[in-house]
Amino acid sequence: MTKAAVFNAVQEPLTIEEIDVADPIGNEVLVRTAASGVCHSDLHFIEGLYPMPNRAILGHEAAGVVEAVGPNVTEVQPGDHVIACLSVFCGHCDYCMTGRMHLCNNRPARGANETPRLSQNGEMLTQFASVGSYADQMLLHENGIVKIDKDLPFGVAALIGCGVTTGVGAALRTAKVTPGSTVAVFGAGGIGLSAIQGARIAGARKIIAVDMVEHKLQTAREFGATDGVDASLGDPVKQIQDLTDGLGVDFSFEAIGLKVAAEQAWAALRAGGTATVIGMIPIGQNVEIPGNEFLREKKIQGSSMGSNSFKVDMPQYIEFYRQGRLKLDEMITKTRPLEEINEAFADMKSGEVARSVIMFD
Ligand SMILES: [Zn+2]
Ligand SMILES: [Zn+2]
Repeated sequence: MTKAAVFNAVQEPLTIEEIDVADPIGNEVLVRTAASGVCHSDLHFIEGLYPMPNRAILGHEAAGVVEAVGPNVTEVQPGDHVIACLSVFCGHCDYCMTGRMHLCNNRPARGANETPRLSQNGEMLTQFASVGSYADQMLLHENGIVKIDKDLPFGVAALIGCGVTTGVGAALRTAKVTPGSTVAVFGAGGIGLSAIQGARIAGARKIIAVDMVEHKLQTAREFGATDGVDASLGDPVKQIQDLTDGLGVDFSFEAIGLKVAAEQAWAALRAGGTATVIGMIPIGQNVEIPGNEFLREKKIQGSSMGSNSFKVDMPQYIEFYRQGRLKLDEMITKTRPLEEINEAFADMKSGEVARSVIMFD
């Protein structure tokens, strides 16, 4: 039996219950969860903005220790420390074969006629994002983990598992921010702060953080923003133009999941600029942009999990951390036990924390 926080229904608190985690088969790896970040994506499902058909174990930003491995696993062994990544890949679809494993359309999972990885009294539980880290144990696929050094703090490792890879990767991999460029990042939460750090590492000369909360703009400066725009004080697009000689920025990022912020990210671009939407805009909401502005070679694109090749990217991000170029300890503003998962979501909704991390015993 494994202790887990169970998602039962939309808008209801998660409940701490005992569940069954299957033994690893094939290329599966059983991991004892050490830390799990509390990522905004989970909240979208709790609030019903994205569908979740069954009772489920949420959580997808985690690190832990390998407990057992399936017979085909060669990459890790019990005792190894790993980061879990939801970008689990098959290794042979056309996306995987062209270096875009984060878009894999054949993600390995157990079949409908096999024992489910997670269950309770024989009833299958959905393993969110192939991770399900709000539980003492995670049953993962070998292609969904990366081995890390044992001296890396688990909380830091967990953040790399989603938020850091998503934000830093959006800047470095998806948008390919260039040295000397100008950047605006909408939203100074965990993802936005990571995008800001990615832009700083890439050598952007001006990095404008946009948020509605003044103290988050102050935090953004500590992570590399050169300027802050308080969107509660007036049109953020106008404020960004004022900071860029009336031109707008080369790169903008939407790191909240708001239709209006995506439209502002587009409007804040200079000619030839690129807007990258990272946030999860609720299903059913359309982003509207003026069609004539394509004449100025403005571009808008999505970014999924920082366009990662995570087995390559995550070790690089760890190296940036060790060099002091990627601030991760500072991103963890609160730690809590699993029993306080609902309080962690309340913290997130109130905008008081950059990142809560659930620490397991
Ligand atoms: Zn996430
Ligand atoms: Zn694939």
